[in-house]
Amino acid sequence: MTDIQVQPSGAPTGHALLEVKNLFVEFHTRDGVARVINGVSYHLNPGETLAVLGESGSGKSVTAQAIMGILDMPPAKIPSGEILYRGQNLLTMSEEKRRQVRGKEISMIFQDALSALNPVFPVGWQISETLRTRAGMSKRDALARAVELMDLVKIPAAKARIKDYPHQFSGGMRQRVMIAMSLAMDPKVLIADEPTTALDVTVQAQIMDLLADLRRDLNMGMILITHDLGVVADVADRIAVMYAGRIVEHANVHELYKNPAHPYTEGLLDSIPRLDSKGTELATIKGLPPNLLRPPTGCAFHPRCKYAKDLCRTDVPASLNLGNGRTSACHFAKEMLDGTLR
Ligand code: SF4
Repeated sequence: MTDIQVQPSGAPTGHALLEVKNLFVEFHTRDGVARVINGVSYHLNPGETLAVLGESGSGKSVTAQAIMGILDMPPAKIPSGEILYRGQNLLTMSEEKRRQVRGKEISMIFQDALSALNPVFPVGWQISETLRTRAGMSKRDALARAVELMDLVKIPAAKARIKDYPHQFSGGMRQRVMIAMSLAMDPKVLIADEPTTALDVTVQAQIMDLLADLRRDLNMGMILITHDLGVVADVADRIAVMYAGRIVEHANVHELYKNPAHPYTEGLLDSIPRLDSKGTELATIKGLPPNLLRPPTGCAFHPRCKYAKDLCRTDVPASLNLGNGRTSACHFAKEMLDGTLR
């Protein structure tokens, strides 16, 4: 059996805002050690959107939490790897310095707006709190800025609604409040973790449009974490697909949609509902993601892969460089691309 060989997913330009390099994260549990991130590397350039895609448990949110420095350690442990923000390794910074980066330079929108907002404080107070405590603004200035931020995220009648409580907003409007809070300190990197979960399809599209506009207008780098390949086509520049704690495919968005180089990506693409397939059964990827306490031998995707061969059950595939920043961790990536595997 071969060891995992790790290669960077797409070469950074040399001006990368953020670089995750060969990151490993483990969770130490009573049942053993779960290796949840296994050599993840990706980067984010200024002004671009990287979508990080995968099912629950693939490690996409854990990587984001490691970037933010909000992993519970223990049980989590980071045995090796680097997370560079403008060339500085966040993992070796003092907690004091890290706090200055968190929120101010790198900010995060969390999944569940309802539970992330405090139900007993008005939304304006919650947005302005960061400005008072982190930027030292007076109460009046912070509230005025909170109104500007609510305007920025297109909450109608922002000034009138500043004293409203979270339960007085719809799900989509609450998510806009969360986005306003994440922008309070003018971050350079915005991490959006499943920002449209639990919203209906129309509101999902509005939130994605808003994030794309903000990313462009504020010239931020954005990492968009999602399990839904259907929501990223119009907003992402590049996509990193994660499975069992590894990046199994990385490509620019057009190449990936046109011709996936990994069977897992192909399965995700096939499971997007299409208008022209009305009346036919929706394709799914059979089986479940692996238990990372006892991962499969060889390629972690082999129990679910319709193309699996003997080699896949014994040897971990290296991340193959397919040119133009494209990588795939499949023994048969080239055959996937030229169509001879299908
Ligand atoms: Fe499938 Fe084998 Fe490729 Fe893994 S290495 S994705 S099992 S074909």
